Amino acid sequence: MLQPVFYAATHIMFSFSTIAKYQSDLQNNHTSCTEAVNHYLARIDANRHLNAFTEVYAEEALQRAQELDRLRSLGHTPKKLHGVVIALKDVICYKDHRVTAASKILEGFKSLYNATAVQRLLDEEAIIIGTCNCDEFAMGSSNENSAYGNVLNALDTTRVPGGSSGGSAVAVQAGCCMASLGSDTGGSVRQPADFCGIIGLKPSYGRISRYGLIAYASSFDQIGIFGNNTNDIALLLEVLSGADEYDSTALNDENPVFTNKAIPIRRYRIAYFKEALQHPSLDNGIREQVFALIDLLKNKGHLIEEVDFNLLEYVVPTYYVLTTAEASSNLSRYDGIRYGYQTKNDIQDLNDFYKKTRSEGFGKEVQRRIMLGTFVLSSGYYDAYFSKAQQVRRLLVEKTNTIFSDYDALIMPTSPSTAFRIGEKNEDPIAMYLADIFTVFANLTGIPGISIPLFKHSNGMPFGLQVMTKKADELTLLELSRYLLNEYQMAEPETV
Ligand code: GLN
Repeated sequence: MLQPVFYAATHIMFSFSTIAKYQSDLQNNHTSCTEAVNHYLARIDANRHLNAFTEVYAEEALQRAQELDRLRSLGHTPKKLHGVVIALKDVICYKDHRVTAASKILEGFKSLYNATAVQRLLDEEAIIIGTCNCDEFAMGSSNENSAYGNVLNALDTTRVPGGSSGGSAVAVQAGCCMASLGSDTGGSVRQPADFCGIIGLKPSYGRISRYGLIAYASSFDQIGIFGNNTNDIALLLEVLSGADEYDSTALNDENPVFTNKAIPIRRYRIAYFKEALQHPSLDNGIREQVFALIDLLKNKGHLIEEVDFNLLEYVVPTYYVLTTAEASSNLSRYDGIRYGYQTKNDIQDLNDFYKKTRSEGFGKEVQRRIMLGTFVLSSGYYDAYFSKAQQVRRLLVEKTNTIFSDYDALIMPTSPSTAFRIGEKNEDPIAMYLADIFTVFANLTGIPGISIPLFKHSNGMPFGLQVMTKKADELTLLELSRYLLNEYQMAEPETV
């Protein structure tokens, strides 16, 4: 049996490109899981200043790697994610490990069970290397709302990595793991992927079971995947998806296949919203490069057309009314009685205990949303806000159905700007909310969306193109993304 020390001596540098290549290297004894984990632990250590991780399972990950290496040396047939090193957003439950949601209110809490997503990773022999920092309860767009501090963008540490899954994005961006999981309620996988120059997939609502994902807004929440290439994302999606008896909203598709698809040569029919590309909040450099791509696609013979979308101005208000309403109800469970943080201050009565515990345990943004959600659900305002927002959501779903009866895909920028500076939007929550204008549509309608790193801005930062397809059609989404990345990745700025 080959000992880890043998690999370390002969392969000083571990390098990762794709899961498939890594696994063939494992089979040929060109590398080992132990070497991979040692490599990532060293990367995590070298990138501590980015604050991407809330906890690193160094010993445990190494032990598991050694066990997997031992199994292979005994002739074991590797499973789909054998030795794949993955990080989890700190809102996904991993049995007997801390889960904090980047909140003080969950201080000291350990998961009692595995999220279905985690169970599926483990069953396919993945190695979980740690948990990633995020905005508290996944509420935010910059990772500035974490009880564990900001996460920094590895490409420019004066800039945010995006949020709420900022730590998971940076973990992949800075080469601290092969892939990571995040959650996307209104853009929290796609927008940080866009800001960090990597791929971020939000699958259809229900594609990956939400069992064991800490709830923010249950009719929007979806676990998503960060990675470096579409094949890795497809493989992870295949492992993670499928019906689940613990989540009645999980899609009933037993064993969907997303891997091993060749790029079909076809003429895509692609729509874009006129109002989105003309929106005044959209950075000019982004607008120009997206239009340039549209021209390139047209010249290649694809059908690419402008579609009216007069509901664009309503998507952000609708999203914030509905998600805060759901959050106010979901977060009522954090009462300090059953688990988590408890006030240490003097208390008068039970109400006072709740008030102090929740005021001290929740951060400012979470409190703002709980109050907003409670307000829109209150009897005097329910019809004016909550019911109205539900009606708009219905209109958006109808609009989506019309679009996808004529087109294979819808494209949009992922975000109106590239990664902004730390502190730039923090004092203005409305400005921060408005920047979600292009991502919330997919969550309001349940369709899958992906951000692919096609572009580089004249300010030096990367940005992505967001691609969406009809609900449950991740196959087309991944095919088209693969095609676009192969043909157009990192097109240089046309106009500087
Ligand atoms: N930025 C959005 C928000 O603050 C999205 C969050 C998310 O997708 N979890 O709600």
